[in-house]
Amino acid sequence: MAHIGTLFIISSPSGAGKSSLIQALLERPSADGKLQVSVSHTTRATRPGEVDGVHYHFVDQPQFKALIDRGAFYEWAEVFGNYYGTSREWIDAQLAKGIDILLDIDWQGARQIRAQSPSAKSIFILPPSRKELERRLNARQQDSAEVIQGRMDKAVSEMSHYDEYDYLLVNDNFDHALNQLSSIIEAERANSGKQAIRFQDLLSGLLAE
Ligand code: 5GP
Repeated sequence: MAHIGTLFIISSPSGAGKSSLIQALLERPSADGKLQVSVSHTTRATRPGEVDGVHYHFVDQPQFKALIDRGAFYEWAEVFGNYYGTSREWIDAQLAKGIDILLDIDWQGARQIRAQSPSAKSIFILPPSRKELERRLNARQQDSAEVIQGRMDKAVSEMSHYDEYDYLLVNDNFDHALNQLSSIIEAERANSGKQAIRFQDLLSGLLAE
C-alpha cells in the first residue's frame, strides 16, 4: 500500500526534553489529527503516572518475544536492559491514510527503520549542555541516583549517534525547538510527490483543458 504519510523518527538522550516537545507538537492546531505518535511495546516497569496503552503497551518478556516471532515489529531493541518495539500494523494503516507518524525511539531502532523505509526523516534532539542534562534528569525524581547515573552514561553513548540523523536540534529554548520541529514536519508534508496524491482531484480540476 502506498504511504502518503511520513515516518518521523525522533531520538535524544533521556532528559533532553523530547517527550515534552512531542506532546506540544501534537497539541498544536496544525497537527489536527494529521500527526500521531506511535505507542511502543516495552518490557520495562510502569513509572508513576504512566498509563498502559497511552504511554506504552506494557508487556512481559514472553509476550514481547512472541510479538518478535510473529513479525509484529517494524523494529525492536534492547535499551537500558529492557526491550522496546514499534508495532508495524497500526503504523502502516496510518501512513496509508496520509497521517504522519512520530516514532520516539533510540538510535538502534532508527537504524532499522532507515534500512526499511529510506523516506523516513530522522531528527536528533540535544540538551543545551551536559550540566543542564544532569539537572533535568535529577528534576524528574522518578528514578534512583544509580539509575540517573546510568542514564548519564547512556546519554553520552546515545548522543554519539547524532550524525546518523537528517536533522539536529538543540533544546535550549523550548519554543524555538518546537518551531523547528514543526517546520520540519510541515515542510515534509508539502513534498510534491505526496501532495500530488493528496490533491489528485484538485490537480485534475486545475489542469483540465
Ligand atoms: P523510556 O524508558 O525512558 O521511556 O525510554 C528509554 C529509551 O527507549 C528512549 O530513548 C526511547 O526513545 C527508547 N524507545 C522507546 N520506545 C522505543 C521503541 O519502540 N523502539 C526503540 N528502539 N526504542 C524505543
